[in-house]
Amino acid sequence: MDIKVAKFGGSSVADAIQMRKVKEIIDADPSRRYIVVSAPGKRFAEDSKLTDLLYLCKSHVEHNVPFHQVFQVIWDRFKIMIMNLGLDLDIDPYFMEIRKNLQEGASDDYIASRGEFLSAILTANYLGFDFIDPKDYIKFDTSGKFMAEETNALLAAELPKHEYAVIPGFYGAKLDGSIKTFSRGGSDITGALVAKAVGASVYENWTDVSGFLMADPRIVENAKPIGTVTYRELRELSYMGASVLHDEAVFPVKEADIPINIRNTNEPDNPGTIILSAVPEEETDEVITGISGRKGYTVIGIYKDGMNSEVGYIKRLLSILENYNIPFEHLPSGIDTASIVISNKNVQGILGDLLEDVQRRLTPDHLEVSQDLALIATVGHGMCKRIGVSATLFTALYQAGVNIRMIDQGSSELSIIVGVEEKDFEKGIKAIYEAFVEKKLLKKSSKEE
Ligand code: ASP
Repeated sequence: MDIKVAKFGGSSVADAIQMRKVKEIIDADPSRRYIVVSAPGKRFAEDSKLTDLLYLCKSHVEHNVPFHQVFQVIWDRFKIMIMNLGLDLDIDPYFMEIRKNLQEGASDDYIASRGEFLSAILTANYLGFDFIDPKDYIKFDTSGKFMAEETNALLAAELPKHEYAVIPGFYGAKLDGSIKTFSRGGSDITGALVAKAVGASVYENWTDVSGFLMADPRIVENAKPIGTVTYRELRELSYMGASVLHDEAVFPVKEADIPINIRNTNEPDNPGTIILSAVPEEETDEVITGISGRKGYTVIGIYKDGMNSEVGYIKRLLSILENYNIPFEHLPSGIDTASIVISNKNVQGILGDLLEDVQRRLTPDHLEVSQDLALIATVGHGMCKRIGVSATLFTALYQAGVNIRMIDQGSSELSIIVGVEEKDFEKGIKAIYEAFVEKKLLKKSSKEE
């Protein structure tokens, strides 16, 4: 029988009502054998995630402020869940131990991880599954670097000993046994590691949305869902801001060629989005897979006559960025110009110094800076080999009155990224969506053999 790994996010395990839905989903398919859980998340918009409350307890301790009230809120949430689910589970000893460790100066990572730990204890009890503590199997070296191979070997040896098990997400331990968490949202990574280790047929990631939409629904009303998307497309989309899944969660399952299925705990009949290595050609109905983007970029335009014949000019530009430890997004260039696109947050507080250095070391004829650029990525494996895609995209933006400040078509032909003024961001996304998805302007276009 196939093995499925199902990871449930914070909103799916937020209270007893949600937990009942989780149990129904798991009961419906006996191949869902390994369950990874987040800490209980928000039950309503103004609610708090337990992970945030745990970090808050820790900072209270650090500032010598009593933490008991916040701690009690967390304790009570678990007690209410246990009561509402009618479980025979005494959670108090766990809380007493955590409180003691908190008082004795336990680390941030230990405290933060207790949300997942307790959530998994509760879920395992409710489902009648084994509980597996990842501290013994998900390993980090002494400097805190994740140890992929060792982890995979340890998980692959342990998990098959359990027919059905619940594993807390988000953390593991360093070689000295101290708890270490992944970055925020890291339970997604745990789910991917478990899926890889057991050779799952699918990694189901249950959350509160029915997969990905072709565009941000706050910008495009009734944006269509994405049925299938490739890992590479997703990378381009999530890099630009469409985040449902932790970036690093993709790598372990991609390596093992395991599809990820994003599903909605509140709408279990919806098939959600499947993320695969490659989408079969015949399934490519849409020209584009999705549109995403982000505001908040700075462009530094450098103009110098004869730039193209000056050896090492761009190298010097990049070495200045390197000195400041600044990553850049794009570097479109012309004969005598180069523009460098950098996220605003990466130049905050240092832009003046950076420009001075550029001026001094590169002696440009002219230097121009603007800090109001937004990037829009139109992504799709269906764009490749199809004629007229750029024409449609640029016509759509032209007709919407959007001025294009930068163009970058990746050599993979997987995406076309345009830079527009921030004020045109929403208008631009809408125009592209309408052109490709609603009006299907490309229907008439030809496709090369
Ligand atoms: N609970 C952790 C967080 O809030 C990890 C997770 O939910 O994936 O970031």
